[in-house]
Amino acid sequence: MTTVSDLMTSVGSSAREDDLLVDVVATMRANNHSCAVITADGLVKGILTERDLVAAYSRALQTGVIDCWTVSAIMTPDPVCVRQDASLFDALRLARAHHVRHLPVIDHQGYLVGMVTHTDMINLYVDILEQQSVLMDANTELRAQSREDPLLRIGNRRAMQTDMAKVSATAQRTRQAYAIALLDLDYFKPFNDHYGHVEGDHALQAVVSAIKNTMRQGDTLYRYGGEELLMLLPGSDIRDASHAAERARLAVQQLALTHDHSPYHILTLSGGIASTRASLADDLIAQADKALYRAKAEGRNRICGSVDLASGVSVDTLESR
Ligand code: GH3
Ligand code: MG
Ligand code: MG
Repeated sequence: MTTVSDLMTSVGSSAREDDLLVDVVATMRANNHSCAVITADGLVKGILTERDLVAAYSRALQTGVIDCWTVSAIMTPDPVCVRQDASLFDALRLARAHHVRHLPVIDHQGYLVGMVTHTDMINLYVDILEQQSVLMDANTELRAQSREDPLLRIGNRRAMQTDMAKVSATAQRTRQAYAIALLDLDYFKPFNDHYGHVEGDHALQAVVSAIKNTMRQGDTLYRYGGEELLMLLPGSDIRDASHAAERARLAVQQLALTHDHSPYHILTLSGGIASTRASLADDLIAQADKALYRAKAEGRNRICGSVDLASGVSVDTLESR
């Protein structure tokens, strides 16, 4: 924590009560100081600020000469002081409560150790605000990174879980359906084994890019894990999902990435879709997973659907290819 001693300046202009005002003001002017702390044996007796000088000058205009005045004649006695271990916040609060711009800094025995001005405090406060702003930007960046898959630059599983929970809650509240499509590349292990991991990564990136181009605004693609993707389709029923997943399947097929170890000779995609108004997100994923399993079992490069009986969505089991 930043304390007053970190930001105070050593006392530039200090004086004794019996010093002549003319000398002290000359020192203040020479040093460009806006105040002088008046001490006796190191203890704070008073403070002479610009405000005191203006008040004295005003009086002097009415009463005559001020040459022989000593400091004690016009200083503010027993000024508000701040302890050197006080926080910046405490010091600012103190300055505000007492409407003062200069705070002599004292140690725990009451001896003067420095001086802190309003300007010092504001400067430090602005520094802190600037640091906070940099930190907030870094935090926003970190938060974004913690939601994003670094390879595919789409939401990761964590982002998917958060977003899906929100969509699911809205669906339950509004009784409007939403759907998901679980998409999985076919024979991707042999693809990796044959063409290498780097080529596998490039293929994954190309697939994601192609799929994203087919997606409606408002729908989102996530990396569910490995070579599995999940498309979240708010406000969609099973037919909307079937169209979206079919467009994705077709886009991957049209990429025509050579895959000599697939019966299709190109890289293909299978998908399982599910829609609901009421089911929990995990249950919906389980249904889509079941449908995906069927798409695999039935020969891959196809989309299968699962009907959510619990939600009452009466749509026939879908199959497309
Ligand atoms: P299926 O048609 O039944 O889906 O078979 P598959 O070979 O695609 O399925 P499996 O789940 O056995 O293999 C998935 C493979 O995906 C395993 C791994 O080599 C590959 N894979 C997962 N994540 C990545 C990745 O980030 N980069 C690369 N290059 N490969 C990945
Ligand atoms: Mg696969
Ligand atoms: Mg898989």
